[in-house]
Amino acid sequence: MTELPGRIVVAGASLGGLRAAEQLRAAGWTGAVTVVGDEPHMPYNRPPLSKEVLAGKAPFESLALTPKPAAADVEWRLGTKVVEARLAERTVELDDGSVLPYGGLVVATGMRPRRLSCPGPLVGRHTVRTLADARALRDELARPGARVVVIGAGFIGCEVAATAVGLGVREVTVVDPLPLPMVGPLGELLARALRTRHEQRGVRFALGATVAGFEGDDRVTGVVLGDGSVLAADVVVESVGSVANVEWLRGNGLDLADGVLTDEQLRVGGRPEVVAVGDVARFPNARYDGVARRVEHWSVPSDTARHAARVLASHLNGADAELPPFAPLPTFWSDQHDFRLQSFGAPALGRDDVRVLDGDPADDVLAGYHADGRLVGVVALGGQAATRGAARYRAQLLRQPALTA
Ligand SMILES: Cc1cc2nc3c(=O)[nH]c(=O)nc-3n(C[C@H](O)[C@H](O)[C@H](O)COP(=O)(O)OP(=O)(O)OC[C@H]3O[C@@H](n4cnc5c(N)ncnc54)[C@H](O)[C@@H]3O)c2cc1C
Repeated sequence: MTELPGRIVVAGASLGGLRAAEQLRAAGWTGAVTVVGDEPHMPYNRPPLSKEVLAGKAPFESLALTPKPAAADVEWRLGTKVVEARLAERTVELDDGSVLPYGGLVVATGMRPRRLSCPGPLVGRHTVRTLADARALRDELARPGARVVVIGAGFIGCEVAATAVGLGVREVTVVDPLPLPMVGPLGELLARALRTRHEQRGVRFALGATVAGFEGDDRVTGVVLGDGSVLAADVVVESVGSVANVEWLRGNGLDLADGVLTDEQLRVGGRPEVVAVGDVARFPNARYDGVARRVEHWSVPSDTARHAARVLASHLNGADAELPPFAPLPTFWSDQHDFRLQSFGAPALGRDDVRVLDGDPADDVLAGYHADGRLVGVVALGGQAATRGAARYRAQLLRQPALTA
Protein backbone atom coordinates (compact mmCIF):
# COMPACT_ATOMS: atom_id res chain seq x y z
CA MET A 1 0.00 0.00 0.00
CA THR A 2 1.51 3.36 -1.04
CA GLU A 3 1.22 6.19 1.43
CA LEU A 4 -0.46 9.21 -0.17
CA PRO A 5 -0.36 11.83 2.58
CA GLY A 6 -1.61 14.45 0.16
CA ARG A 7 -5.06 12.94 -0.33
CA ILE A 8 -8.15 14.16 1.47
CA VAL A 9 -10.93 11.59 1.60
CA VAL A 10 -14.47 12.90 1.94
CA ALA A 11 -16.90 10.20 3.15
CA GLY A 12 -20.42 10.97 1.89
CA ALA A 13 -21.32 12.40 -1.53
CA SER A 14 -24.31 14.63 -0.84
CA LEU A 15 -24.57 18.36 -0.14
CA GLY A 16 -22.02 18.27 2.72
CA GLY A 17 -19.49 16.18 0.77
CA LEU A 18 -19.81 18.35 -2.33
CA ARG A 19 -19.49 21.62 -0.44
CA ALA A 20 -16.48 20.23 1.50
CA ALA A 21 -14.70 19.36 -1.76
CA GLU A 22 -15.43 22.80 -3.22
CA GLN A 23 -14.44 24.64 -0.05
CA LEU A 24 -11.16 22.72 0.22
CA ARG A 25 -10.21 24.20 -3.15
CA ALA A 26 -11.43 27.64 -2.06
CA ALA A 27 -9.27 27.30 1.07
CA GLY A 28 -6.18 26.71 -1.06
CA TRP A 29 -5.91 22.92 -0.91
CA THR A 30 -4.38 21.77 -4.21
CA GLY A 31 -3.76 18.11 -3.34
CA ALA A 32 -5.94 15.17 -4.30
CA VAL A 33 -9.55 14.96 -3.08
CA THR A 34 -11.57 11.74 -3.30
CA VAL A 35 -15.27 11.76 -2.43
CA VAL A 36 -16.76 8.36 -1.61
CA GLY A 37 -20.55 8.00 -1.65
CA ASP A 38 -22.76 4.94 -1.35
CA GLU A 39 -25.60 6.31 -3.49
CA PRO A 40 -25.13 5.72 -7.23
CA HIS A 41 -25.73 9.41 -8.08
CA MET A 42 -23.70 12.57 -8.06
CA PRO A 43 -24.88 14.89 -5.24
CA TYR A 44 -28.46 16.09 -5.51
CA ASN A 45 -30.75 18.42 -3.62
CA ARG A 46 -32.97 16.70 -1.05
CA PRO A 47 -35.54 19.40 -0.07
CA PRO A 48 -37.65 19.01 -3.25
CA LEU A 49 -38.03 15.26 -2.59
CA SER A 50 -40.91 15.87 -0.17
CA LYS A 51 -42.33 18.80 -2.13
CA GLU A 52 -42.00 19.51 -5.87
CA VAL A 53 -40.64 16.08 -6.83
CA LEU A 54 -43.33 14.23 -4.90
CA ALA A 55 -45.93 16.53 -6.43
CA GLY A 56 -44.59 15.70 -9.91
CA LYS A 57 -43.75 19.37 -10.51
CA ALA A 58 -39.98 18.91 -10.78
CA PRO A 59 -38.22 16.20 -12.77
CA PHE A 60 -35.63 14.17 -10.90
CA GLU A 61 -32.93 15.62 -13.18
CA SER A 62 -33.60 19.12 -11.84
CA LEU A 63 -32.19 18.10 -8.44
CA ALA A 64 -28.59 17.66 -9.63
CA LEU A 65 -26.02 19.78 -7.79
CA THR A 66 -23.21 20.63 -10.19
CA PRO A 67 -19.71 20.92 -8.69
CA LYS A 68 -18.09 24.35 -9.03
CA PRO A 69 -15.32 24.51 -11.72
CA ALA A 70 -12.57 24.71 -9.05
CA ALA A 71 -13.60 21.25 -7.89
CA ALA A 72 -13.69 19.74 -11.39
CA ASP A 73 -10.65 17.53 -10.71
CA VAL A 74 -12.15 15.91 -7.61
CA GLU A 75 -12.39 12.12 -7.85
CA TRP A 76 -15.86 10.65 -7.21
CA ARG A 77 -16.21 7.04 -6.10
CA LEU A 78 -19.96 6.53 -6.21
CA GLY A 79 -22.00 3.46 -5.35
CA THR A 80 -19.23 2.69 -2.84
CA LYS A 81 -19.55 2.60 0.92
CA VAL A 82 -16.92 3.40 3.50
CA VAL A 83 -17.12 0.43 5.85
CA GLU A 84 -14.40 1.25 8.34
CA ALA A 85 -12.13 4.10 9.36
CA ARG A 86 -8.88 3.44 11.19
CA LEU A 87 -8.04 6.91 12.40
CA ALA A 88 -4.73 5.96 14.06
CA GLU A 89 -3.49 4.51 10.74
CA ARG A 90 -5.17 7.24 8.66
CA THR A 91 -6.94 4.80 6.36
CA VAL A 92 -10.50 4.07 5.35
CA GLU A 93 -11.72 0.77 3.96
CA LEU A 94 -14.36 0.65 1.23
CA ASP A 95 -16.93 -2.06 0.57
CA ASP A 96 -15.08 -3.08 -2.60
CA GLY A 97 -12.19 -4.15 -0.34
CA SER A 98 -9.89 -1.28 -1.24
CA VAL A 99 -8.10 0.70 1.46
CA LEU A 100 -7.56 4.44 0.98
CA PRO A 101 -4.78 6.11 2.94
CA TYR A 102 -5.47 9.75 3.67
CA GLY A 103 -3.78 12.85 4.97
CA GLY A 104 -7.13 14.42 5.83
CA LEU A 105 -10.62 12.98 6.34
CA VAL A 106 -13.99 14.73 6.10
CA VAL A 107 -16.96 12.97 7.72
CA ALA A 108 -20.07 13.84 5.64
CA THR A 109 -22.18 10.69 5.85
CA GLY A 110 -25.38 12.40 7.00
CA MET A 111 -28.47 10.59 8.21
CA ARG A 112 -30.90 7.85 7.28
CA PRO A 113 -34.56 7.61 8.32
CA ARG A 114 -35.38 5.92 11.59
CA ARG A 115 -37.81 3.02 11.08
CA LEU A 116 -40.58 1.82 13.36
CA SER A 117 -39.96 -1.66 14.67
CA CYS A 118 -43.56 -2.50 15.61
CA PRO A 119 -45.08 -5.63 14.01
CA GLY A 120 -46.76 -5.77 10.59
CA PRO A 121 -46.05 -5.95 6.87
CA LEU A 122 -43.38 -3.73 5.29
CA VAL A 123 -44.92 -3.36 1.83
CA GLY A 124 -46.73 -0.03 1.48
CA ARG A 125 -44.58 1.61 4.16
CA HIS A 126 -42.28 4.39 2.96
CA THR A 127 -39.64 6.87 4.08
CA VAL A 128 -38.41 9.97 2.23
CA ARG A 129 -34.67 10.57 2.20
CA THR A 130 -33.37 9.55 -1.21
CA LEU A 131 -34.32 9.87 -4.86
CA ALA A 132 -35.31 6.21 -4.85
CA ASP A 133 -37.59 6.81 -1.84
CA ALA A 134 -39.33 9.76 -3.51
CA ARG A 135 -39.82 7.83 -6.76
CA ALA A 136 -41.38 4.88 -4.93
CA LEU A 137 -43.70 7.07 -2.84
CA ARG A 138 -44.78 9.16 -5.82
CA ASP A 139 -45.94 6.03 -7.63
CA GLU A 140 -47.92 4.92 -4.59
CA LEU A 141 -49.62 8.28 -4.06
CA ALA A 142 -50.95 7.97 -7.60
CA ARG A 143 -52.96 4.86 -6.61
CA PRO A 144 -56.62 5.84 -7.16
CA GLY A 145 -58.45 6.50 -3.90
CA ALA A 146 -55.35 5.97 -1.77
CA ARG A 147 -55.65 6.64 1.96
CA VAL A 148 -52.38 7.89 3.37
CA VAL A 149 -51.25 7.80 6.99
CA VAL A 150 -48.17 9.85 7.80
CA ILE A 151 -46.48 8.87 11.05
CA GLY A 152 -44.62 11.80 12.59
CA ALA A 153 -45.67 15.47 12.49
CA GLY A 154 -42.20 16.95 12.05
CA PHE A 155 -40.87 18.83 9.00
CA ILE A 156 -40.93 15.96 6.58
CA GLY A 157 -44.22 14.51 7.81
CA CYS A 158 -45.97 17.88 7.48
CA GLU A 159 -44.47 18.47 4.03
CA VAL A 160 -45.47 15.03 2.74
CA ALA A 161 -49.01 15.43 4.13
CA ALA A 162 -49.33 18.81 2.40
CA THR A 163 -48.04 17.44 -0.89
CA ALA A 164 -50.39 14.45 -0.72
CA VAL A 165 -53.41 16.70 -0.14
CA GLY A 166 -52.29 18.87 -3.05
CA LEU A 167 -52.22 15.77 -5.24
CA GLY A 168 -55.86 15.09 -4.40
CA VAL A 169 -55.22 12.05 -2.21
CA ARG A 170 -58.54 10.95 -0.68
CA GLU A 171 -57.56 10.89 3.00
CA VAL A 172 -54.38 12.11 4.64
CA THR A 173 -53.96 11.60 8.40
CA VAL A 174 -50.90 12.58 10.41
CA VAL A 175 -50.23 10.66 13.64
CA ASP A 176 -47.93 11.92 16.37
CA PRO A 177 -47.55 11.32 20.13
CA LEU A 178 -47.09 15.06 20.73
CA PRO A 179 -50.13 17.37 21.04
CA LEU A 180 -49.25 19.61 18.06
CA PRO A 181 -47.31 19.35 14.78
CA MET A 182 -43.70 20.59 14.80
CA VAL A 183 -44.12 21.74 18.40
CA GLY A 184 -40.48 20.87 19.19
CA PRO A 185 -38.85 23.37 16.83
CA LEU A 186 -41.72 25.91 16.80
CA GLY A 187 -43.23 26.01 20.30
CA GLU A 188 -46.96 26.07 21.00
CA LEU A 189 -48.04 29.37 19.43
CA LEU A 190 -46.88 28.62 15.90
CA ALA A 191 -47.48 24.87 16.14
CA ARG A 192 -51.15 25.61 16.90
CA ALA A 193 -51.37 27.99 13.94
CA LEU A 194 -49.69 25.38 11.74
CA ARG A 195 -52.20 22.72 12.75
CA THR A 196 -55.12 25.01 11.90
CA ARG A 197 -53.65 25.80 8.49
CA HIS A 198 -53.20 22.12 7.69
CA GLU A 199 -56.70 21.24 8.84
CA GLN A 200 -58.21 24.05 6.75
CA ARG A 201 -56.53 22.50 3.71
CA GLY A 202 -57.77 18.96 4.37
CA VAL A 203 -55.15 17.23 6.52
CA ARG A 204 -56.49 15.25 9.49
CA PHE A 205 -54.48 14.78 12.68
CA ALA A 206 -54.39 11.99 15.27
CA LEU A 207 -52.29 13.76 17.89
CA GLY A 208 -51.29 12.43 21.29
CA ALA A 209 -51.42 8.98 19.66
CA THR A 210 -48.77 6.28 19.42
CA VAL A 211 -48.44 3.55 16.83
CA ALA A 212 -48.62 -0.04 18.10
CA GLY A 213 -48.43 -1.93 14.81
CA PHE A 214 -49.60 -2.35 11.23
CA GLU A 215 -52.47 -4.40 9.83
CA GLY A 216 -52.35 -6.37 6.59
CA ASP A 217 -50.97 -9.62 5.18
CA ASP A 218 -48.90 -8.96 2.07
CA ARG A 219 -49.05 -5.17 2.37
CA VAL A 220 -50.19 -2.63 4.89
CA THR A 221 -53.95 -2.01 5.17
CA GLY A 222 -54.10 -0.13 8.47
CA VAL A 223 -52.18 1.52 11.28
CA VAL A 224 -52.99 0.24 14.78
CA LEU A 225 -52.82 2.98 17.39
CA GLY A 226 -51.85 2.58 21.03
CA ASP A 227 -55.51 2.70 22.17
CA GLY A 228 -56.35 -0.21 19.85
CA SER A 229 -58.15 1.85 17.19
CA VAL A 230 -57.16 1.37 13.55
CA LEU A 231 -56.63 3.98 10.83
CA ALA A 232 -57.27 2.45 7.39
CA ALA A 233 -54.22 2.99 5.21
CA ASP A 234 -53.17 2.05 1.69
CA VAL A 235 -49.90 3.96 1.98
CA VAL A 236 -47.93 4.73 5.14
CA VAL A 237 -45.11 7.26 5.38
CA GLU A 238 -42.81 6.92 8.38
CA SER A 239 -41.22 10.26 9.22
CA VAL A 240 -40.13 9.57 12.77
CA GLY A 241 -36.69 11.12 12.81
CA SER A 242 -33.32 10.02 11.59
CA VAL A 243 -30.29 7.99 12.57
CA ALA A 244 -26.73 9.16 11.94
CA ASN A 245 -24.56 7.14 9.56
CA VAL A 246 -21.59 6.71 11.88
CA GLU A 247 -21.15 2.93 12.16
CA TRP A 248 -18.03 3.09 9.98
CA LEU A 249 -16.36 5.32 12.61
CA ARG A 250 -16.77 2.82 15.47
CA GLY A 251 -13.69 1.46 17.24
CA ASN A 252 -11.85 4.78 17.24
CA GLY A 253 -12.85 5.96 20.72
CA LEU A 254 -15.11 8.72 19.34
CA ASP A 255 -18.32 10.06 20.89
CA LEU A 256 -20.92 8.74 18.44
CA ALA A 257 -23.93 9.07 20.76
CA ASP A 258 -25.80 11.32 18.28
CA GLY A 259 -23.86 11.90 15.09
CA VAL A 260 -20.16 12.54 15.63
CA LEU A 261 -19.07 14.99 18.29
CA THR A 262 -16.74 17.77 17.14
CA ASP A 263 -14.92 20.56 18.91
CA GLU A 264 -15.65 24.25 18.20
CA GLN A 265 -13.50 23.99 15.05
CA LEU A 266 -15.42 20.95 13.74
CA ARG A 267 -12.45 18.67 14.43
CA VAL A 268 -13.23 15.09 15.43
CA GLY A 269 -11.67 13.17 18.34
CA GLY A 270 -9.04 15.85 18.97
CA ARG A 271 -7.47 15.05 15.57
CA PRO A 272 -6.55 18.06 13.45
CA GLU A 273 -6.71 15.94 10.28
CA VAL A 274 -10.34 14.79 10.76
CA VAL A 275 -13.35 17.13 10.49
CA ALA A 276 -17.11 16.61 10.23
CA VAL A 277 -19.71 18.53 8.20
CA GLY A 278 -23.46 18.59 7.58
CA ASP A 279 -26.26 16.72 9.33
CA VAL A 280 -23.92 14.18 10.95
CA ALA A 281 -21.79 16.76 12.80
CA ARG A 282 -22.69 17.44 16.46
CA PHE A 283 -20.97 20.74 17.09
CA PRO A 284 -21.01 23.46 19.74
CA ASN A 285 -22.22 26.76 18.29
CA ALA A 286 -20.29 29.64 19.86
CA ARG A 287 -23.23 31.92 19.03
CA TYR A 288 -25.42 30.15 21.58
CA ASP A 289 -24.78 28.13 24.70
CA GLY A 290 -21.82 26.04 23.58
CA VAL A 291 -23.83 22.78 23.89
CA ALA A 292 -22.99 20.44 21.00
CA ARG A 293 -26.00 19.68 18.78
CA ARG A 294 -26.68 18.29 15.34
CA VAL A 295 -28.64 20.63 13.06
CA GLU A 296 -30.52 19.09 10.12
CA HIS A 297 -31.01 22.19 7.97
CA TRP A 298 -29.95 22.72 4.39
CA SER A 299 -27.76 25.71 5.35
CA VAL A 300 -25.59 23.64 7.70
CA PRO A 301 -23.66 21.51 5.17
CA SER A 302 -22.47 24.69 3.42
CA ASP A 303 -21.64 26.58 6.63
CA THR A 304 -19.82 23.63 8.22
CA ALA A 305 -17.97 22.82 4.98
CA ARG A 306 -16.66 26.38 4.66
CA HIS A 307 -15.28 26.39 8.19
CA ALA A 308 -14.06 22.77 8.31
CA ALA A 309 -12.27 23.10 4.96
CA ARG A 310 -10.36 26.13 6.20
CA VAL A 311 -9.38 24.28 9.39
CA LEU A 312 -8.28 21.16 7.50
CA ALA A 313 -6.49 22.90 4.61
CA SER A 314 -4.66 25.18 7.03
CA HIS A 315 -3.49 22.18 9.08
CA LEU A 316 -2.39 20.12 6.09
CA ASN A 317 -0.65 23.12 4.53
CA GLY A 318 1.34 23.44 7.77
CA ALA A 319 -0.12 26.78 8.84
CA ASP A 320 -2.54 25.67 11.60
CA ALA A 321 -4.11 29.12 11.52
CA GLU A 322 -6.04 30.14 14.64
CA LEU A 323 -9.65 30.56 13.48
CA PRO A 324 -12.52 31.99 15.53
CA PRO A 325 -14.83 29.24 16.85
CA PHE A 326 -17.57 28.10 14.49
CA ALA A 327 -20.67 30.25 15.09
CA PRO A 328 -23.20 29.92 12.26
CA LEU A 329 -26.65 31.49 12.19
CA PRO A 330 -28.89 28.49 11.42
CA THR A 331 -31.66 29.02 8.89
CA PHE A 332 -34.39 26.76 7.59
CA TRP A 333 -37.45 26.92 5.44
CA SER A 334 -40.28 24.50 4.91
CA ASP A 335 -42.86 24.78 2.15
CA GLN A 336 -46.26 23.28 3.03
CA HIS A 337 -49.45 23.77 0.96
CA ASP A 338 -49.45 27.42 -0.18
CA PHE A 339 -47.39 28.81 2.72
CA ARG A 340 -43.84 28.75 4.00
CA LEU A 341 -42.16 28.49 7.38
CA GLN A 342 -38.96 30.55 7.38
CA SER A 343 -36.63 30.58 10.36
CA PHE A 344 -33.42 32.36 11.30
CA GLY A 345 -31.45 31.69 14.47
CA ALA A 346 -32.26 29.07 17.10
CA PRO A 347 -35.99 29.32 17.92
CA ALA A 348 -35.90 26.02 19.84
CA LEU A 349 -33.74 27.74 22.49
CA GLY A 350 -36.41 30.41 23.01
CA ARG A 351 -39.60 28.32 22.89
CA ASP A 352 -40.70 29.36 26.38
CA ASP A 353 -40.85 33.06 25.52
CA VAL A 354 -42.44 33.51 22.10
CA ARG A 355 -43.78 36.93 21.14
CA VAL A 356 -45.67 38.00 18.03
CA LEU A 357 -43.45 40.52 16.22
CA ASP A 358 -45.82 41.14 13.36
CA GLY A 359 -49.16 39.87 12.02
CA ASP A 360 -51.51 37.46 13.73
CA PRO A 361 -51.29 33.69 14.35
CA ALA A 362 -54.71 33.34 12.69
CA ASP A 363 -53.20 34.85 9.54
CA ASP A 364 -49.61 35.43 8.39
CA VAL A 365 -47.42 35.81 11.45
CA LEU A 366 -43.84 36.57 12.44
CA ALA A 367 -42.79 35.33 15.89
CA GLY A 368 -39.70 36.14 17.96
CA TYR A 369 -38.15 33.55 20.29
CA HIS A 370 -36.35 34.80 23.40
CA ALA A 371 -33.92 33.33 25.92
CA ASP A 372 -33.06 35.39 29.01
CA GLY A 373 -35.12 38.17 27.41
CA ARG A 374 -32.90 38.23 24.30
CA LEU A 375 -34.02 37.47 20.77
CA VAL A 376 -32.45 34.13 19.69
CA GLY A 377 -34.62 33.26 16.69
CA VAL A 378 -37.46 34.38 14.44
CA VAL A 379 -39.95 32.25 12.53
CA ALA A 380 -42.39 33.45 9.89
CA LEU A 381 -45.45 31.43 8.93
CA GLY A 382 -47.33 32.55 5.86
CA GLY A 383 -46.77 34.13 2.48
CA GLN A 384 -43.88 36.07 0.99
CA ALA A 385 -44.42 39.22 3.04
CA ALA A 386 -44.09 37.26 6.29
CA THR A 387 -40.94 35.45 5.18
CA ARG A 388 -39.39 38.73 4.02
CA GLY A 389 -40.20 40.08 7.48
CA ALA A 390 -38.16 37.27 9.06
CA ALA A 391 -35.17 38.08 6.86
CA ARG A 392 -35.19 41.63 8.22
CA TYR A 393 -34.21 40.25 11.64
CA ARG A 394 -31.19 38.40 10.29
CA ALA A 395 -28.76 41.26 10.84
CA GLN A 396 -30.04 41.80 14.38
CA LEU A 397 -29.61 38.12 15.20
CA LEU A 398 -26.08 38.17 13.78
CA ARG A 399 -25.17 41.17 15.92
CA GLN A 400 -26.29 39.58 19.20
CA PRO A 401 -23.42 38.66 21.56
CA ALA A 402 -22.98 34.98 22.41
CA LEU A 403 -25.65 33.63 24.75
CA THR A 404 -23.05 32.45 27.27
CA ALA A 405 -21.22 35.80 27.30
C1 LIG B 1 -37.02 14.97 2.14
C2 LIG B 1 -36.17 16.05 2.73
C3 LIG B 1 -36.61 17.38 2.67
C4 LIG B 1 -35.84 18.40 3.23
N1 LIG B 1 -36.30 19.68 3.16
C5 LIG B 1 -35.59 20.67 3.75
C6 LIG B 1 -36.08 22.02 3.74
O1 LIG B 1 -37.15 22.31 3.19
N2 LIG B 1 -35.34 22.97 4.35
C7 LIG B 1 -34.15 22.70 4.98
O2 LIG B 1 -33.52 23.62 5.55
N3 LIG B 1 -33.64 21.43 4.99
C8 LIG B 1 -34.33 20.41 4.39
N4 LIG B 1 -33.84 19.13 4.40
C9 LIG B 1 -32.54 18.85 5.07
C10 LIG B 1 -31.34 18.90 4.11
O3 LIG B 1 -31.65 18.33 2.89
C11 LIG B 1 -30.19 18.18 4.79
O4 LIG B 1 -29.83 19.00 5.89
C12 LIG B 1 -29.00 17.93 3.88
O5 LIG B 1 -29.34 17.06 2.84
C13 LIG B 1 -27.84 17.33 4.67
O6 LIG B 1 -26.77 17.05 3.81
P1 LIG B 1 -25.58 16.10 4.26
O7 LIG B 1 -24.65 16.04 3.09
O8 LIG B 1 -25.04 16.51 5.57
O9 LIG B 1 -26.23 14.67 4.54
P2 LIG B 1 -27.04 13.71 3.56
O10 LIG B 1 -27.81 14.49 2.58
O11 LIG B 1 -27.74 12.74 4.46
O12 LIG B 1 -25.89 12.92 2.77
C14 LIG B 1 -25.06 11.94 3.29
C15 LIG B 1 -24.61 11.05 2.15
O13 LIG B 1 -23.65 10.12 2.63
C16 LIG B 1 -23.99 8.82 2.17
N5 LIG B 1 -23.41 7.81 3.09
C17 LIG B 1 -23.89 7.43 4.30
N6 LIG B 1 -23.05 6.52 4.86
C18 LIG B 1 -22.05 6.33 3.98
C19 LIG B 1 -20.88 5.51 4.00
N7 LIG B 1 -20.58 4.72 5.04
N8 LIG B 1 -20.05 5.55 2.92
C20 LIG B 1 -20.33 6.37 1.86
N9 LIG B 1 -21.42 7.15 1.79
C21 LIG B 1 -22.27 7.15 2.84
C22 LIG B 1 -25.50 8.84 2.16
O14 LIG B 1 -26.04 7.81 1.37
C23 LIG B 1 -25.75 10.23 1.56
O15 LIG B 1 -25.66 10.21 0.17
C24 LIG B 1 -34.59 18.08 3.85
C25 LIG B 1 -34.16 16.74 3.90
C26 LIG B 1 -34.93 15.75 3.35
C27 LIG B 1 -34.45 14.31 3.44
